[in-house]
Amino acid sequence: MRRPLALPTPVSHLETTRPSGSTRSLSAPLEQRLTPDPRKAWSWLQKSRLGRYGVALLFFLCALLLQMELASLMSTSPFLFFYGAVMVAGWWGGWGPALLVTALSLGAVDHEFLPPRLTLQMRSADVLSLGIFALLAIFITKLNVSLSRAMEERAGLLESERQARAASEAARTRLHTIFMQAPAQIFFLRGATHDFDFSNARNSSLLKSRDTLGMPFQEGVVKVAEQDARDVLDRVFATGEPFVGNAVPLRFLQTDGMEKETFHNLVYQPTRDTQGQVDGIAGFGFDVTDLVHARQRAEALAIELRQAEFRTRVLAEVSTVLASSLDYEATMRNLAKLVVPALADWCFVDLAQPDGNFRRLEVAHARPEDAATAAEVLNFQLMPEGNPRHPPTAALLRGEAILLEEMTPAHIKRSAHNENHARVMLATGLRSFIAVPLVVRGHTLGVFSFFTSFSNRRYTQADLAFGLELAYRAALSMENARLYREAQEAIRLRDEFLSIASHELKTPLTPLSLKLQALARELERHPDAIPYSVVKGYVDTGARQVKKLAELVGDLLDVSRIAAGRLALELEDVDLGALIREVVVRYEPHATRAGSTLEVEGGESGLIGRWDRLRLEQVVTNLIDNAVKYGSGKPIQLSLEQGPTRARLRVRDQGIGIAPEHLPRLFGRFERAVSERHYGGLGLGLYITRTLVEAMGGRVRVESEQGRGSTFTVDLPRERTLPVDVSVAQPQ
Ligand code: ADP
Repeated sequence: MRRPLALPTPVSHLETTRPSGSTRSLSAPLEQRLTPDPRKAWSWLQKSRLGRYGVALLFFLCALLLQMELASLMSTSPFLFFYGAVMVAGWWGGWGPALLVTALSLGAVDHEFLPPRLTLQMRSADVLSLGIFALLAIFITKLNVSLSRAMEERAGLLESERQARAASEAARTRLHTIFMQAPAQIFFLRGATHDFDFSNARNSSLLKSRDTLGMPFQEGVVKVAEQDARDVLDRVFATGEPFVGNAVPLRFLQTDGMEKETFHNLVYQPTRDTQGQVDGIAGFGFDVTDLVHARQRAEALAIELRQAEFRTRVLAEVSTVLASSLDYEATMRNLAKLVVPALADWCFVDLAQPDGNFRRLEVAHARPEDAATAAEVLNFQLMPEGNPRHPPTAALLRGEAILLEEMTPAHIKRSAHNENHARVMLATGLRSFIAVPLVVRGHTLGVFSFFTSFSNRRYTQADLAFGLELAYRAALSMENARLYREAQEAIRLRDEFLSIASHELKTPLTPLSLKLQALARELERHPDAIPYSVVKGYVDTGARQVKKLAELVGDLLDVSRIAAGRLALELEDVDLGALIREVVVRYEPHATRAGSTLEVEGGESGLIGRWDRLRLEQVVTNLIDNAVKYGSGKPIQLSLEQGPTRARLRVRDQGIGIAPEHLPRLFGRFERAVSERHYGGLGLGLYITRTLVEAMGGRVRVESEQGRGSTFTVDLPRERTLPVDVSVAQPQ
């Protein structure tokens, strides 16, 4: 098995490794360094000339002494110990000391041991033995010197190797330290299973365990997306192509169980064996999470800025559209078309109707191919009683803007009103939805909805704020259009009223003035005394016209009192039956002139209640007056019903009747249901009637069929203790 790339324990840079393996501090005491070192002495003996010759001479002397001591025993071999001395001198000191010892040995042997002794004379036989000694000594020296050189070289080589090994270990240690302390993740993987060979501190902090050596990558890594990383490693190992990834997102499970996403610049570099085969992977990673986050923030900010600028531009266009017309329906249609495609792929406008229902006014869509779906969408009405999860319905019910950032198909199905609705909603492909109610002064005028589909855009809070602003402006514009319409209508009504009022006020004046002129002529004709009957006729007519004038002026005064909230009731016990009969008696001549009869039914036994007598009389008069006026000369029935707490008066005629479309507004101010050419009247009688009846706690209503007469019914409570101030009550 291959040894893992576990680098040796790092040593401090202040220590140096010794060949023996021991370490010595550079700061050792001085006396320690002065202690004699035998190695140095040995080296001196070997290297210096004195040492080399000295050792040679020493051995020569030893050989001489030994030879002299043992001469008696070994007289036949006087050279033996000198061979040894030559050998040692050659071994220790090289050629010089060896030749010196050889020469000295020749002299010593000749002088001391060969006859004639103690003289340097040589016998011919001795010359031969001395010559052989000299030759052998040279030969031995030659061998020794060669051997000595070879050994020196070997020692040198060994030393070089040792030094190289030490240098390599030091370099390895330094590399280990650098790798371990590197401000990056470094790891080495081995084999196809990617077993950890090395992992530095930064890398290990991202692993399951600090001790991952020998552990397969898959077991050591705590990544959620570890499969992806392994795929990349497999590919690098299989192809030998390095992998370089910038800002690669990696997700890690932290010890607290939470996932953490970090971003890294990664390089996975294949490593190769001596045959060039990929045998592992060297991985380098730089955590660039802060950079990526900073870049993401900057990008988000830039996008937000661009969008804010864009929204401001759209809002400016919205303002132009809203100000362009007082036809608010056309305006809302244009608004929907402006929002699509600028901010949405689809846009709906639902408007509240007077009957409380909603009408889908517009469906704008960005893609022409969605036209058929849009036609279906237009058919769906906003249903307040529908599914409250439906975004526009929710906005309507809650009265607040709704933002659904991401709607899934399941979510869409849940928020649909029914299956068909779900089908159409799904067909739009909706994704992100905003619905904003159009509210002004507490009234919901409709709902403005827009959403994205194919553009895949997701709305944010900023878009919601934009939607609110847009809806606010739209609602204000609708309200302004409505107020403008109402103001126009009020002006039209006022002008109409002024023309009718002047006509009405003039009507009694004409006969009055004619009668006065006739009376003046009678005075001229009868300067002394005008006959009683003549004067009475003129006075009666004049009085009727003045009464009519007074009633008209009285009605006008009542209206202004009601408008100012100054109409006060004086409650007292009133017999309604008696009151009605009085009015009927007063009105009979008028009814007769119109060809009608007045019949009263009920109330004979006295129907007493707490009412304002004069105002009640005014109510009854108004209803009888109208019945006579619009009764087509047919009989008029008044019926009185008595309950324990309430009284009911019905005035029924068989006259022209009222068209159904006029019925809802009939009790309003200045409201008339007939043309002024055929009938006079200020359109105030029923308004005053309703106001007075309601002030007394009652209700008035009408049932009518055109051409078949009308029935007005007044219901009144019989008890009403305090006088009541009447304030203005406009008909809805
Ligand atoms: P006016 O003085 O114009 O009659 P009112 O307020 O009394 O004003 O009546 C309002 C309108 O109601 C009238 O213009 C008329 O069209 C309709 N109206 C009132 N009473 C009757 C009735 N009995 N039959 C038919 N129409 C009526």
